[in-house]
Amino acid sequence: MSRFSLRYASDLGDGIYAVDTGYIRPQFDACYIITQRAPSSERIAVIDCGTPHSIERILTTLTDLECQPDQVDYIILTHIHLDHAGGAGQLMQLCLNAQLVVHPRGVKHMIDPSMLKAGAIKVYGEEVFTKEYGDFQSIEAHRVIEATDQFMVNLAGRILLCIDTPGHAKHHITIWDQMSRGAFTGDTFGISYREFDTEKGAFIFPSSTPIHFDPKALRASLKKIMLYQPEWIYPTHFSKIGQVPRLYQKLTEMLSHVEDLGISMKKVDNRHELLKIGLLNLYIQELRDQGCQLSDSKIDQLLQLDVELNAQGMGVWLNALQT
Ligand SMILES: [Zn+2]
Repeated sequence: MSRFSLRYASDLGDGIYAVDTGYIRPQFDACYIITQRAPSSERIAVIDCGTPHSIERILTTLTDLECQPDQVDYIILTHIHLDHAGGAGQLMQLCLNAQLVVHPRGVKHMIDPSMLKAGAIKVYGEEVFTKEYGDFQSIEAHRVIEATDQFMVNLAGRILLCIDTPGHAKHHITIWDQMSRGAFTGDTFGISYREFDTEKGAFIFPSSTPIHFDPKALRASLKKIMLYQPEWIYPTHFSKIGQVPRLYQKLTEMLSHVEDLGISMKKVDNRHELLKIGLLNLYIQELRDQGCQLSDSKIDQLLQLDVELNAQGMGVWLNALQT
């Protein structure tokens, strides 16, 4: 239980709050608020910020936490996909003391989002883009910090360590918080929806969305995260999960299945549709092994968007494979 009355967020302990950004459906997309006590006032870091529509929920949560936007020192992006970074420009305009922390490869796109917009329109189509991400604001260059590997964000003495973790995206960092022994992994450490939790634990699968999916790099990044021996993972999709060694094992197994599926279909006709069927079957089989009781059609409904985007990203990966 939190001592605060939170309308859109849950209290995860250690001064960490998960805000449900409202993107797509409840418990789909999170961003995190970290609060740290300081002599004058609490200082705040926000990790990821959803889309432009999510900003109101972040502000509401700050109010619920009895904080002001000017207490936000850092807005840290795990990567610049728009369900994580789309609202960053708006939030920066409201949090006047904040600096944006982003992977070196993401910097220019946050200052001039035109290429990012064009890329997103290619993935989502013009109509969805305008509806979900239309009001994408640029950020002034002097407010942007490049988070190179091992860059330390100092939030009133609480160190948030930025680790370069490519594989899902080349512009991806994971943020290690020693205080909670937790890793804010964006999409690198897979996707895990709470609807699928069973008594055996959480269901997790790798995200292979376009255009940088690289299983080898992803595997190396997962190993790198495990070196810190995290007790908790805070993925964007969705919220805090424990039993990390088990999750790691499940995730790497699933990644091998995804790779095998892709390679077996590299040259077939109608590849995209077959990849979608193959991915959904893979997810359903794993869910059944874990004792998930939801119907196939409910699982299909909950995973439809992931299946579509993961198959698209696998297509990009397979096209780039030499053999
Ligand atoms: Zn992503």
